[in-house]
Amino acid sequence: MNGNKQAAGVYSVPKQWAERAFIDAQRYEAMYAASIANPEEFWGEHGKRIHWIKPYSTVKNTSFESGKVSIRWFEDGTTNVSYNCIDRHLTERGDKFAIISVGDDPKDDARITYRELYAHVMKWANVLRSQGIGKGDKVTVYLPMIPELTYAMLACTRIGAIHSTLSTNCPPKVLASCIADAASTVVVTADSGTRGGRKLELKVKLDAALDKLPEVVTSVIVVKHTGAPVSMLKGRDHYYDELAETVPDQCPPEEMKAEDPLFVLYTSGSTGKPKGVVHTTGGYLVYTAMTHQYVFDYRDGDIHWCTAEISWITGHSYTVYGPLANGATTLIFEGTPTYPSMSRYWDIIDKHKVSLFYTAPTAIRSLMGSGEDAVKSNSLASLRLLGSVGEPIDPKTWDWYHRVVGGGRCPIVDTWFQTETGGILMTPLPGATELKPGSVGTPFFGVRPELVDAAGNVLDGVANGNLVIADSWPGQMRTLYRDHERFEQEYFSIYPDKYFTGDGARRDAGGHYSITGRIDDVINVSGHRIGTAEVESALVAHASVSEAAVVGYPHEIKGQGIYAYVTLIDGEAASDELRKELVSWVRKEIGPIFTIDKVQFAQGLPKTTSGKIIRRILRKIAEDKCTEFGDTSTLSNPAVVDHLIDNRLNRK
Ligand code: ATP
Ligand code: MG
Repeated sequence: MNGNKQAAGVYSVPKQWAERAFIDAQRYEAMYAASIANPEEFWGEHGKRIHWIKPYSTVKNTSFESGKVSIRWFEDGTTNVSYNCIDRHLTERGDKFAIISVGDDPKDDARITYRELYAHVMKWANVLRSQGIGKGDKVTVYLPMIPELTYAMLACTRIGAIHSTLSTNCPPKVLASCIADAASTVVVTADSGTRGGRKLELKVKLDAALDKLPEVVTSVIVVKHTGAPVSMLKGRDHYYDELAETVPDQCPPEEMKAEDPLFVLYTSGSTGKPKGVVHTTGGYLVYTAMTHQYVFDYRDGDIHWCTAEISWITGHSYTVYGPLANGATTLIFEGTPTYPSMSRYWDIIDKHKVSLFYTAPTAIRSLMGSGEDAVKSNSLASLRLLGSVGEPIDPKTWDWYHRVVGGGRCPIVDTWFQTETGGILMTPLPGATELKPGSVGTPFFGVRPELVDAAGNVLDGVANGNLVIADSWPGQMRTLYRDHERFEQEYFSIYPDKYFTGDGARRDAGGHYSITGRIDDVINVSGHRIGTAEVESALVAHASVSEAAVVGYPHEIKGQGIYAYVTLIDGEAASDELRKELVSWVRKEIGPIFTIDKVQFAQGLPKTTSGKIIRRILRKIAEDKCTEFGDTSTLSNPAVVDHLIDNRLNRK
């Protein structure tokens, strides 16, 4: 049996990209140096890309000093996010499509112009007001990927309310805890939704959550989406349509301070209970708009499609706020990549002439499994740039994405960021950075990454260490909702005076970074610290392997042994022979210290509702501590875990 050799190629920047892109290599160097040498001046200039009601006179007022962490940008300026995302485009782009909305059913799609968006958002704002919502109040938004989700979020920003948007995958327990944590008095939902042909019982799940919180929520606004009948609690539940009839059409934007909270967003929960991350108004919008333009080389006329659910940071920043602040056309899709067929994504790209396509490795891997034919029935000629985000992308998947989806001509921006960072912190820039599969390139303007060892010593040059950020950037989170102490503790105390990302990374001689995995997941084999990404990439490079996750477990001689969970491609059978072959394959690919001790074949891997592998659960199974999983509220596929437990290899 032969595997594919791991792609190790480096792609230099094509001439036409270097010539045409906003940022070429020289400009990157100059702008980056300027952003670090004088952040005040740099951001003072770039802050002007958004409209300010009252211009700022101070730019940066930030401290990472442990115990006194305070992050304020453009603090005496005032602005309004919905004004920036809608009103200011109306004269020149009123008839341009702001949103292309693609339904779960391929027959359903809709286009919304900026002028229509304006009308919808003002109506929504007045409906929220009619339910007692004003400046500083919290609204939970629990909607499928339909235009109303964007209307509701922008309506909050119009009147200065703070939104907390939750994934439709959230089970009632998580819904209840997030609603209670954010203390939202109003929740917006839909009767139900459909995703991948399956019904999403949104109102039913919300009712179950609210049963646990009788006091908190005074109003539920229900969008009639599928038209399915749902139970409505008198006095509390209202259909949006009925409320809309009773409120005015016009709603001027509220003047907001730059540091007024914009939203609370809960993290994916890969490493534990989700945290309520708080982002504010001015700096966030400047940073997401600027990264959207430069990272994706966004131009007027591009059709931008970020497939992430809007309820994750990627959707907030690169489906809604960044693109709309730039006057872009953004596509939102209600369904899944595999319904009604494996070519759904590619059909949408051709039909709507998508030019910038941004998705996650987990989606690409699942589509790669169905072969190239599903892609090749479409031309994909409109694509000019591809993006990846959410997890490390292994070189085999990168190569397939580049060759089969991008036709070899589209650069891939592998963007690293976190809910906490608001926008992309490290990425290749398509006109400036040579592309190396598995590398997240170089820092964006104003971002100062450092690698440190466990004791906090800064590592220079080529190095492998823990990734911290030495100074603030405008899109950074400001606090954890109602828990500034935990914010300080979790992010600024481990390496005093630096923002701790929780991720490990490697830096090569050219100053390019690769994310090696989460630090919690590092495996220590006979004194060698091994990140998960490298071993997993090597496993996935084998032709029989679809997906892999590795964790450490206590080992008498080596300290920790490497335990691999492997799912095979369709039609491939698990065998002892294959197990042995995978072990020797990985040794050959990346070296003998990476000798895997145990290989468990799996039907699937435990994932969060956003599709990220939860290695913390896998670690417990490998340690035979199957009753100690901790918070599993964001686990999307519990049946997979039962199967893993039944077939575990370490039993006492
Ligand atoms: P929690 O913090 O609750 O455990 P989470 O970290 O999964 O959840 P997110 O903020 O959605 O929540 O994810 C950010 C993390 O995703 C990063 O810290 C990193 O581990 C991973 N990540 C994101 N983009 C990339 C990328 N391009 N390459 C490698 N890893 C990435
Ligand atoms: Mg995290």
